[in-house]
Amino acid sequence: MADNDSGAKNPATQVVTGGRRKEWTGSVVNPPVWRGSTHLYENVAHLRDGVKSNADGRFFYGRRGSPTQWSLAEALTEMEPGAAGTMLYPSGVAAISCALLAVLNPGDEILLADSSYDPSRSFADAFLKRMGISARYYDPTMGADIAELFAPNTKAILMESPGSLTFEVQDIPAICRVARDAGIVTLLDNTWATSRFFPALEHGVDIAITAATKYIVGHSDVMMGAVTTHSKYWTSLRRTAQQLGQVVSPDDAYLAARGLRTLDVRLRQHEASALKIAHWLKDRPEVGLVLHPALPDCPGHAIWKRDFKGSSGLFSFELADGDDQSRAAFIDALTLFGIGYSWGGFESLALPVDPEKHRSATKWTGKGPLVRLNIGLEDPDDLIADLAKGFEHYHSARS
Ligand SMILES: *Cc1c(COP(=O)(O)O)cnc(C)c1O
Repeated sequence: MADNDSGAKNPATQVVTGGRRKEWTGSVVNPPVWRGSTHLYENVAHLRDGVKSNADGRFFYGRRGSPTQWSLAEALTEMEPGAAGTMLYPSGVAAISCALLAVLNPGDEILLADSSYDPSRSFADAFLKRMGISARYYDPTMGADIAELFAPNTKAILMESPGSLTFEVQDIPAICRVARDAGIVTLLDNTWATSRFFPALEHGVDIAITAATKYIVGHSDVMMGAVTTHSKYWTSLRRTAQQLGQVVSPDDAYLAARGLRTLDVRLRQHEASALKIAHWLKDRPEVGLVLHPALPDCPGHAIWKRDFKGSSGLFSFELADGDDQSRAAFIDALTLFGIGYSWGGFESLALPVDPEKHRSATKWTGKGPLVRLNIGLEDPDDLIADLAKGFEHYHSARS
């Protein structure tokens, strides 16, 4: 497959038109849900031809998908200029694990950002270790200096920018430049920005990973992961996914594609509402740092400004002088914010996060406990009123 050149269309148009090939949609707007394990062939010659061509975009067997999944994958590929294709996985974690297994071999070493999503850390520390692959962690703010950590067996770098608890923005282009010079493959967990706000391959990343569960799906009703890469790693990514039996259901692919069509407008609203609330929080006496990449206080803010086309709806803030109990009182008092994992949906969420528990190369020394907010699509003024009520309960819990 040739690397695409989809830069010509603007992103809002891309998410609307992507993957809607006439042969997949027929005479309706959305590619229908093709449920099926067996695909029936016309005759033996047709069956043999199916094995031979063996490419996505052709019926073969249910595990290779149907137009419902191909259409979604193609739309995601179009959002990454330079990409050869996208594989879909039943969760974001499956996408991360399978992408790493596609490029690592026993004896290799992987470097991971110390701000990495915790399940990425446990996959490296437990599963990869069992396979004879070692893991080391780096300071997410170190940029090109990461080259000083390279060992002869360093094979891959797993980046995540910004980190999803503490929001450090990494110098992805600088890291990718030194990695490429050293023959090291770069992978990025791009869930926060998506290709809409950070086309990863254009910034030098080899393999872009998204937990589609979050913004692509956007409605908190489907788990899914996606990995997009250029032609150098495409064959190995695809083969590994197939060998590991990765497939997403057509019903889930349908819902994810439906979510994708509104990604542009949703992200822009998440961005505007989150910024309004982040600025409001910044002026509150109870709040220490607001860790939002678009705010100057956030580590790596200048890099965010240079590289990203926008910011999404997830950020954290410090309850200066708070403790675990007063933080719980704050969160419990909120009525518009649900308490739960995941993010990227239309509903707002609040979560206590404790980054110091998930670090080894750096120390997290905040001015009080952190609260992470997923800003949904409610009216931001209602969310602000809810947070103000939370602060009243916070004060009662402290006195
Ligand atoms: C949620 C998340 C994932 C994993 O996605 P799942 O679909 O929940 O498995 C990966 N990376 C980040 C940054 C996430 O927030």
